[in-house]
Amino acid sequence: MLIDHQLVPGDGESETIINPATGEILCEVGEASSEQVNRAVSAAVRAWDAWAQTTPAERAGMLLKLADIIESNAEQFALLESLNCGKPYARVLADEIPAIADCFRYFAGAARCMTGSVAGEYLAGHTSLIRRDPVGVVASIAPWNYPLMMAAWKTAPALAAGNTVVLKPSEQTPLTALLFARLAAEVLPKGVLNIICGRGPSVGQPLVEHPQVRMVSVTGDVSTGRKILQAAAGTVKRTHLELGGKAPVIVFDDANLEEVVNGVRTFGYYNAGQDCTAACRIYAGPKIYEKLVADLSSAVSTLKMGTQQEEGVELGPLISDRQRSRVASFVERAQMTGHVEVTTGGKLRQGPGFFYEPTVIAGARQDDEIVQREVFGPVVSVTRFSDEEQVVGWANDSQYGLASSVWTTDISRAMRITRRLQYGCTWINTHFMLVNEMPHGGLKSSGYGKDMSMYALEDYTVARHVMVKL
Ligand code: NAD
Repeated sequence: MLIDHQLVPGDGESETIINPATGEILCEVGEASSEQVNRAVSAAVRAWDAWAQTTPAERAGMLLKLADIIESNAEQFALLESLNCGKPYARVLADEIPAIADCFRYFAGAARCMTGSVAGEYLAGHTSLIRRDPVGVVASIAPWNYPLMMAAWKTAPALAAGNTVVLKPSEQTPLTALLFARLAAEVLPKGVLNIICGRGPSVGQPLVEHPQVRMVSVTGDVSTGRKILQAAAGTVKRTHLELGGKAPVIVFDDANLEEVVNGVRTFGYYNAGQDCTAACRIYAGPKIYEKLVADLSSAVSTLKMGTQQEEGVELGPLISDRQRSRVASFVERAQMTGHVEVTTGGKLRQGPGFFYEPTVIAGARQDDEIVQREVFGPVVSVTRFSDEEQVVGWANDSQYGLASSVWTTDISRAMRITRRLQYGCTWINTHFMLVNEMPHGGLKSSGYGKDMSMYALEDYTVARHVMVKL
């Protein structure tokens, strides 16, 4: 771990880190003791004043170095991430690592573009101006599905804005954060970034409750978000929540079927569906429904599932045996309704590792659990709708509000529907694409707070009013 510029082992209980593709033990990682949690926060507190006074250009210089370090160690990061999460190595290297380096580069530039509103006289004889200042010490708590990317989404804007950080990766996937800790220590001043390991209740919770932590940013489950909100209430902290999702994919009869099928084959099953924006809840128009189910099922059945380094692998295992059982039980309960049909997949793969076949469930109804709840696995449901009003109602009838997509060749309809969707993001004729310049975040139980973009810098700063009597 990285505490106050020192690399130290965790003194608390140790966590066994597993390779999900084989079930084999990779290593043991000790979690932070409560004394180490306190030391990490104290280090961030001590470092804050000097860090907050650095110029944006100075901070940008260091963020650019972090981006370079990630790029020059790309293979090692990709190897660790793929081993720890079970992801295809080639995908991590080609998709995730460049996006992570770009995140640091984006916020390096963004730090220098942050401006307040112009000064003005709103009371005679007084000049008002607005400052955007850092919040203080930020606790960043990350999930297991994209460990290094989530660490980047959280630490880059926080540091760019002049905050100091204590980052806690998921207890299941700490390896890339630990490599990052070692490399970042060579770039950042003492105490500015601290990285500690451990479970939610024993390390996350004390961090959230710590009186000197001023802001908590978490990506995780809705239930975790609720617990963190309650814990943060005691000290009235700013919170930034990125929680789950259940993205509706609205496919009209006039959509380009081939593009829809290719899109859902990719965006519904990327990262084995362990993605909060996964294209998992399809609503298909009455005329396109049958063909979509048939073509999608045969396309999905060709997805190549395998271990990290297998040639052409598209889909890895789930993160744990527990997660796989959870996914399997969703499919079993869906089948018990009697009205759905599993048109492909629906089974565990026998043998080592936590593999679950990519699955399509046709004939799902709006009230079904499989349509309402986040599965977080390679399972896509398809529901037939009859008209625009019905599908807008169904798409919004969800506790989640993170991502959505509309597929049609009628741009007026696409815009009409998009306007009414209660989701942080709507894609038209695509899904899943993210860029560091644009915000990512949800509505409703998906949380609030934006990752990436200038909106994230706003979230990690406070607006302050300064008034001068003339
Ligand atoms: P999780 O909620 O189990 O854990 C997330 C993090 O919170 C972990 O680091 C965990 O140790 C920590 N944590 C758990 N309980 C805590 C507590 N009481 N106090 C402080 N910290 C605590 O989530 P997960 O299983 O790692 O990740 C999957 C979830 O994350 C899914 O629900 C998914 O939708 C969501 N997710 C959301 C986004 C998004 O941007 N909205 C992105 C990725 C994942």
